[in-house]
Amino acid sequence: MRLEGHGLRFCHHTDTGRVRPDNQDACHVEVLDPSLPQALLAVADGMGGHAGGEIASRLAVDTVGQAVRSQSGGWRTATDRLNGLRQAGTAARQALLAAQAENPALTGMGTTLTAVLICGDEVSIAHTGDSRCYRVRGQEARRLTDDHSVVGEMLRQGTLSEAEAMVHPQRHLLISALGAGDPLSMDLQTLDWQSGDLLLLCTDGLSNLISAAEIAAAAADPAQWDTLALRLVSLANERGGPDNITAVAAWRVG
Ligand code: MN
Repeated sequence: MRLEGHGLRFCHHTDTGRVRPDNQDACHVEVLDPSLPQALLAVADGMGGHAGGEIASRLAVDTVGQAVRSQSGGWRTATDRLNGLRQAGTAARQALLAAQAENPALTGMGTTLTAVLICGDEVSIAHTGDSRCYRVRGQEARRLTDDHSVVGEMLRQGTLSEAEAMVHPQRHLLISALGAGDPLSMDLQTLDWQSGDLLLLCTDGLSNLISAAEIAAAAADPAQWDTLALRLVSLANERGGPDNITAVAAWRVG
């Protein structure tokens, strides 16, 4: 699916994959203020039982969307935007906890959340869990987020390579997520964003099967960015699609 904002373009695609019975990933793309331009992108990968995971990821992106939509008009600085994203993350966590308190069947549900606020020449990122945000610039896809997982920790300590991490049996074990009962722990950062850059958000169903170099190769031709999300999801499915797969991409035009 495609969406256009002034100076911004997006594509996104989510798929159940070839093994799981349902899709517990969720994504969100929204133009907030076309004049800046300002837009919100988010992906979430839910966990916690049959119904729980699907509810958790949807509730998280909807709550963040609602919080950002209602507040972002008053954000003037990068600090405002990061504080606002942190508050939106807090609101999402509270919504998850409230839903669990209301329905014991949802106890233990949680979700990753990677939310990106594009504002003019800047991107602000709020992140917890093992979904990812990449920035493709030229020939290179640079991962902007850390995986909050046991394996991600080993990668940062240098005891594991990227290739080993992609197939590690414990790669699903998270050390931080939303709503899992722990206090909110979100990484926040602001980066520059130029014409010709592409941002890609994805869940681990994509990044466990497709390397950063392959993402860069798939994004080599800007004329084909409209189909990037669909092509990457299809590639993950060709490789077995063992998990739900979600991709959201954004770029500037003009
Ligand atoms: Mn997943």
